[in-house]
Amino acid sequence: MVKKVTKPQLTILEQEREHTLTELEHLRAELRAELEHDDIDDMASDLIERDKTYALILTLERKLKDIEHAIEQTQTVGYGICEICGKEIDPERLEIFPEATLCVDCKRATERTVHSNAFG
Ligand SMILES: [Zn+2]
Repeated sequence: MVKKVTKPQLTILEQEREHTLTELEHLRAELRAELEHDDIDDMASDLIERDKTYALILTLERKLKDIEHAIEQTQTVGYGICEICGKEIDPERLEIFPEATLCVDCKRATERTVHSNAFG
């Protein structure tokens, strides 16, 4: 059964998306600046900084994808419904991760799969 989406839930996700986009823009500008002001003497620490910025960008890009996915899910399946088992996601979890589309059990199960893939 499809639950009716209430506006505040979508608003939270959209705000989260806006926030992430702003942050991403900021980080990309920072990374560009770091690349432009390349200082040979300071190469090592520059590289570390750049790596950090780049890692953050990747994290945020992934988060943005999750948020967009959650918005899609909200419009099709309903907000706070687990994609795998169809149960309701713990509201406390949704408060911390509004972009969550899996319940804790399914999330744990997928993480186990990812881990076993990564480590053979
Ligand atoms: Zn589930």
